[in-house]
Amino acid sequence: MMNTTSSNTDPVLQEFANSPKGDGPPLPFATRSVQFSEPVAPPQAQIEHYFQRQNTPLKPEDANEVHRRGLNNIGNTCYLNSAIQALRYSTGLKNFFLDGAWEQHQHYDRKGYALLSDFADLVHRLWGDMDTVPERTITPSTFANTFVRFAQEYGSDEIVAGAQADAAEAIQILLDGIHTHVAREVQMNIHGDTSTPDRAEYTKSLESWASFFRKEYSEIVNQYYGQTQTRIQCVAPDCCHSSTNYEPWAMLKVPIPGGNTPGEPAPTLQKCIAAAFETEIVEDYTCSKCKKKGTTRITHSISRFPRHLILCLKRFTNEGSKIRARIPYNEHHVSLAPHIAWPSLQEEDDAKYRVVSTIEHHGSTHGGHYAMRARDTVVKEIEGKKVEEKHWFVYDDSSCYTLSAGGDATPDTYILFLDRLEQ
Ligand SMILES: [Zn+2]
Repeated sequence: MMNTTSSNTDPVLQEFANSPKGDGPPLPFATRSVQFSEPVAPPQAQIEHYFQRQNTPLKPEDANEVHRRGLNNIGNTCYLNSAIQALRYSTGLKNFFLDGAWEQHQHYDRKGYALLSDFADLVHRLWGDMDTVPERTITPSTFANTFVRFAQEYGSDEIVAGAQADAAEAIQILLDGIHTHVAREVQMNIHGDTSTPDRAEYTKSLESWASFFRKEYSEIVNQYYGQTQTRIQCVAPDCCHSSTNYEPWAMLKVPIPGGNTPGEPAPTLQKCIAAAFETEIVEDYTCSKCKKKGTTRITHSISRFPRHLILCLKRFTNEGSKIRARIPYNEHHVSLAPHIAWPSLQEEDDAKYRVVSTIEHHGSTHGGHYAMRARDTVVKEIEGKKVEEKHWFVYDDSSCYTLSAGGDATPDTYILFLDRLEQ
């Protein structure tokens, strides 16, 4: 792993927890505008097993299934319900809340306290056992009100009480809100040599990481943030000046190259990722060194891999249409290794990820409905033996159901949550 390499010569960043410090400015996140209206019915033909959630008392046989709680829609909140379900299933956040780590970093007097504590309460209720939470579905009114208030303070124009909004924006605001609240100052020491261009750049990326997060470090950064390198290179033969900069992110937005017209094969998820790292050629760019106006090459690569990768497919075009390519993701691993900023330092790290949940957007740019899918364990009893199987579950507001096999390549997959595989 790049960030904890044990080599004596490559640059190393060590992060140490230290005393808490005050708030900093929120990180800049790009936001995008999409309008939504009425829900779309789930595809009934594909449903294998439906969990009727509301208004039915829990029975002892529900004990293994009780955490599959739905969230009641309280007025165009399917975008928020899907975001909540995806984040509560993501192990980085699930463990942070269920282990109680979040309580060590809460500050009653700091911005975002209600967001953090109301979300923690909701995560606990969704995962609660039958004795502590005797409900099949939860109405997230308290959290939804807190979230909308926070989003407006945060500067969102799109998130308004009672109106549909973009699940990707909701996730970014929620992650950043939790991060900003629990952030603390830490020591970050960088050491190692800078004798080769790759090592020098690696050191630069670590210095950039430290300058972003030394004063504001959190479990969210530790689990969910990656970093991208952008290199701008003058192509004038007598100059070739190149400069780099580094940006942290919690969500990677990737284009969909193809698969939108009948007969055209859909790209793989790996190809979508590759498209996000394609070299750009920009004309009429003035070089900062030779001052000549000419062609510039801009390359993008990854300088730090996150533990939990959140990908957002760019399904909505600037012209207002939706790209409906069916991109398969079940049983397919993707790797970020082909896009590493310094191949010479890469060692054996293949940076493989697997999709563990998704958020789907059904409908068009002008109206739609969100649902979430998660891969979860089912315990079955076969001939007296307990057998664990993995199944995909759809969380659609208050209901939850399993799908028959092969339903993963839908034209509606919008946000994907991936976990990094152990080395
Ligand atoms: Zn130049």
